[in-house]
Amino acid sequence: MKAACTAAERDHGVTLIEKRDRLGGQVLLNRLIPGRQEMVTAVQDLINNLKNLDVEILLGQEADIQLVKEMAPDAVVIATGAKPVMPDLPGIEGDNVVQAWDLLEGKARVGKKVVVIGGNAVGLETALYLCQLGTLSPEVFHFLVVHRAEPIESLLELLNKGDKEVTVVEMASKLGQDIGPSSRWTVRSELKRLGCTIQKNTRAIGITSEGLEIESADGPGFIPADSIVIAAGSTSDNKLTSDLEGLFPELHTIGDAKAPRNALDAIREGFFAGLEI
Ligand SMILES: Cc1cc2nc3c(=O)[nH]c(=O)nc-3n(C[C@H](O)[C@H](O)[C@H](O)COP(=O)(O)OP(=O)(O)OC[C@H]3O[C@@H](n4cnc5c(N)ncnc54)[C@H](O)[C@@H]3O)c2cc1C
Repeated sequence: MKAACTAAERDHGVTLIEKRDRLGGQVLLNRLIPGRQEMVTAVQDLINNLKNLDVEILLGQEADIQLVKEMAPDAVVIATGAKPVMPDLPGIEGDNVVQAWDLLEGKARVGKKVVVIGGNAVGLETALYLCQLGTLSPEVFHFLVVHRAEPIESLLELLNKGDKEVTVVEMASKLGQDIGPSSRWTVRSELKRLGCTIQKNTRAIGITSEGLEIESADGPGFIPADSIVIAAGSTSDNKLTSDLEGLFPELHTIGDAKAPRNALDAIREGFFAGLEI
């Protein structure tokens, strides 16, 4: 979107192709994460900019080599993003396994006991989303306080305890390395407040219908769980780059399609690609 805006502002004729029925990519996955909803306003801001510019937007259209050849552009910007990684674990195909991306998109559900595999940004933020499910909403809290319906101790318990039991399993010794230091602290303290269990230095080695098999310094172990959520990182979706290489005078691969990072990198690279064309 940023590349399209910048190129259109420089009077290029721009077509933006998106295979889904809405613009926004992964950033929209922040919608359900507590404290992250404002990321979505960055997407809305770009959509508003596009509306004021002469950019043709094709939604629900997958760009492939044939379509791009037919359009015969002078320049192509590839911003096809990333896909979540599915680790090669026994049991990964089970019905009790869901991708964090699907959960955050509202396309998947989990049971009461949940193990999240992966303690970087997506894993911790997915755990945060799960942990706050069933806690008191500000509206209900307000109602109960105003009507003195519950003692303050019960209200505090209801604020701090959701209806899921969540464990995060991370094989490294540090958590949230891809979260900025100030947000990392907030996410970790919120997870602690909500009673999330975190097991570092712990490797997931297999999934059964009963839970997750693990290996740690204490040896093999097992965490009983109804659902296993996969948050094991993402990999660039850049097939189009190799398909289109050498076919057009200018080809720019930007954002997560170049290397999975964050939204600010993607927007900055979009701006510079739009300037270079
Ligand atoms: C849960 C989660 C939370 C995150 N939180 C943050 C955060 O707080 N801060 C931050 O900076 N970053 C965050 N990130 C990372 C950030 O969202 C990504 O780095 C950023 O969205 C990458 O932007 P992009 O445009 O390169 O790719 P994407 O956002 O992946 O967008 C790629 C788009 O291309 C479309 N597409 C793919 N192939 C085709 C094709 N062939 N034809 C047409 N369309 C196609 C896809 O449908 C998608 O809409 C988060 C990521 C996740 C998963």
